[in-house]
Amino acid sequence: MDHIMLIVDDTELNREILKVLFQSHFEIMEAENGEEALETLQGCQGSIDIVLLDLMMPGTSGFQLLERRKTLDYFKNVPVVVVTGSGQMEDQIRAFDLGASDFIQKPFIPEIVVSRVNNVMASSQRMLSIEMEAQKLKIKSELDEMTGLCNKTTSELAMNETLKACKGRLDVMLVIDIDNFKAVNDSSGHQAGDHVIRIIADLISGRFRKSDLVGRIGGDEFCVLMVDVPSMEIVHRKVNELIQIMRYKPNLTIPEYVTLSIGVASNGRADTSYPELFKKADEALYLAKNNGKAQYREYGVEPVDADKDERPALLLLSSSRSVCSTVQTLAPIQLRVVEVLRFEDLNSLGERDKKNIALMYVDVSDLDEDTTPY
Ligand code: GH3
Ligand code: MG
Repeated sequence: MDHIMLIVDDTELNREILKVLFQSHFEIMEAENGEEALETLQGCQGSIDIVLLDLMMPGTSGFQLLERRKTLDYFKNVPVVVVTGSGQMEDQIRAFDLGASDFIQKPFIPEIVVSRVNNVMASSQRMLSIEMEAQKLKIKSELDEMTGLCNKTTSELAMNETLKACKGRLDVMLVIDIDNFKAVNDSSGHQAGDHVIRIIADLISGRFRKSDLVGRIGGDEFCVLMVDVPSMEIVHRKVNELIQIMRYKPNLTIPEYVTLSIGVASNGRADTSYPELFKKADEALYLAKNNGKAQYREYGVEPVDADKDERPALLLLSSSRSVCSTVQTLAPIQLRVVEVLRFEDLNSLGERDKKNIALMYVDVSDLDEDTTPY
């Protein structure tokens, strides 16, 4: 039995007659008065499919229950069929005015009651499926079909609302653009291009918290609003991870030359709007692109000049892309990773790097028998 019926009547015999009529098609629940009916409806939170309601009851009457129905989320969409001894025209009019779906006068002919209740159920089920379809369409229109992320309009709205309620939080926007994406379309076709977009969308959305907002705002452009971040260091680490993963692409089936550029802008713990913050992050993205791609830039922050980077070096000696990727991703931000592919290349390290090595990572799987200097 899929459907549940609530019979509300203060007379046990009346409840029993209705129960016998409907118990082969409905799971039956009963209430002796209005208060008990409301308690049952609230407890069941939307799982009751239809209410048969007597009008004259001690305490909360059927009319009072219908009046309250409109304001109660757990009741307002449940169809109500009034079953009453009243033959008054005014009662009938009032019940319909208050939203009753049908009005059945006692004594009744059982077959007719069953038919009328079935009709009410059928139209209520139709309404429900129309509403569910509308809801599905609404969700679909808010999402980007290809990636399942928020589309441009929804991202803008949601991010704007979130930023407005900042209350001193540190919120940070990232604008992420795929580098050299046009070449994928040109060399391998649009389907391959779509595949790359989906993989990158998954990669991006999988690396942020549930409370962060991620949207696809253009063909190969994404926007992330990191909400309530504890510090910019965390942002730098996250952004760096994304860039490094896309530089080395461990287990990702996308062309070698595809990387990511990212523009970063923070709200500085102050109220700001989506357009204002987006403009800053977009300017930073432009700088990252102009500076050679596969990197991030933060709005208002000068990048450390590679020659003047005073951070101690982590010397990474490996020819394996996946090892390089892992070390680059996990290296503490306080260290500057210096990659050396082969042992012989150590000789060509600059003086600054040679003097400044704090840590070495040597990938011993690279060793061969002849590499005596190890
Ligand atoms: P840059 O490195 O400077 O970012 O250049 P790019 O080659 O990545 O190209 P750009 O960002 O200027 O343009 C993005 C291209 O993405 C333009 C458009 O042909 C293509 N594109 C936009 N939407 C889609 C889509 O849904 N699927 C596919 N396959 N391509 C798309
Ligand atoms: Mg691009």
